[in-house]
Amino acid sequence: MANDMPKMGWVGLGNMGYPMAKLMVEAGYEVTVLDLDRAVVDRFVQEVGGKRADTLAEVGRESDVAITMVPDGKAVHAVAIEGGDNLSAGLADGTLVIDMSSSAPTGTVELGAELSAKGVTLMDAPVSGGVPRATDGTLAIMLGGDDEAALTRATPILEIMGGTVFRTGRLGSGHAMKCLNNYLSAIGLTAANEALIIGAKFGLDPSVMTDIINQSTGRNSNTERKLHQCVLSRTFDAGFSAALMAKDVRTAAGLADDQDMYAPVLAQLSELWTKFSDEHPGEDHTASVKLWEEANGFELKAGGAG
Ligand code: NAD
Repeated sequence: MANDMPKMGWVGLGNMGYPMAKLMVEAGYEVTVLDLDRAVVDRFVQEVGGKRADTLAEVGRESDVAITMVPDGKAVHAVAIEGGDNLSAGLADGTLVIDMSSSAPTGTVELGAELSAKGVTLMDAPVSGGVPRATDGTLAIMLGGDDEAALTRATPILEIMGGTVFRTGRLGSGHAMKCLNNYLSAIGLTAANEALIIGAKFGLDPSVMTDIINQSTGRNSNTERKLHQCVLSRTFDAGFSAALMAKDVRTAAGLADDQDMYAPVLAQLSELWTKFSDEHPGEDHTASVKLWEEANGFELKAGGAG
């Protein structure tokens, strides 16, 4: 049975890639892994299994299907096709590349044409659900691509990582869907930050506010899963960096601009997230409340304003 399984290559073992690649190894796939951070590769091979590659071309040679889970489309392009060492140098005709990163849709379409010239089919399959759902294999997956047979080949692989695999349409459509989803996710958290700090200044307890919001019409996935857990606890440890969220909101704003669309809320949100991530490099997205705390001169504390 295992011999019938396509050989998998995996590039990017970060917060999401590590647990996702782990599921593939546990499902019995032969997975060859690589990350810029060689220590994480060693840890993966030791803790999970799989095979360590030293070059991207080697990952390519060992892949019937290669998956990228790196920060953005620029990194995917570099991994796939740029420089002296890249995936495509090792990929055979007929190989699939599945970009599961949250990349910009226009870049995905361009990369698809570049890879197609080398006989390689690209599809986009970004995900939503964060580290918990990456760990238990219940991610929402947004699958875009132009080659029906290739999409069918990819689906059983994606189903190991996803609770649901949605077909979104042509190449790049998964990435367009993903950045728009994250626009909504970012605005949910941004508005919650603002509401909590305004309420706290007036004397409301942000912890009680969160309980009320979560039983009321203002709730969203951020209020339910992040306010108590990561914001009010001040652990700021959801496992999704502010830099990546800022990138996603900028991608959504770029999608609106590219189509000459009026989208003022998105434009302002993009500025706010870029400002926060520039001023707080390395922080989790749930630490974005600090933008409001710094501007208003006090910290949110369960029980009231600090
Ligand atoms: P991360 O920063 O934790 O991990 C990215 C990994 O890619 C790192 O280990 C890094 O060393 C590696 N990398 C970067 N450039 C590379 C290159 N050129 N070659 C090889 N490896 C390279 O990021 P993450 O949180 O795992 O997110 C990965 C992607 O998934 C991003 O596009 C992100 O927007 C998206 N995403 C993240 C979450 C989340 O909750 N963290 C949820 C959904 C989608």
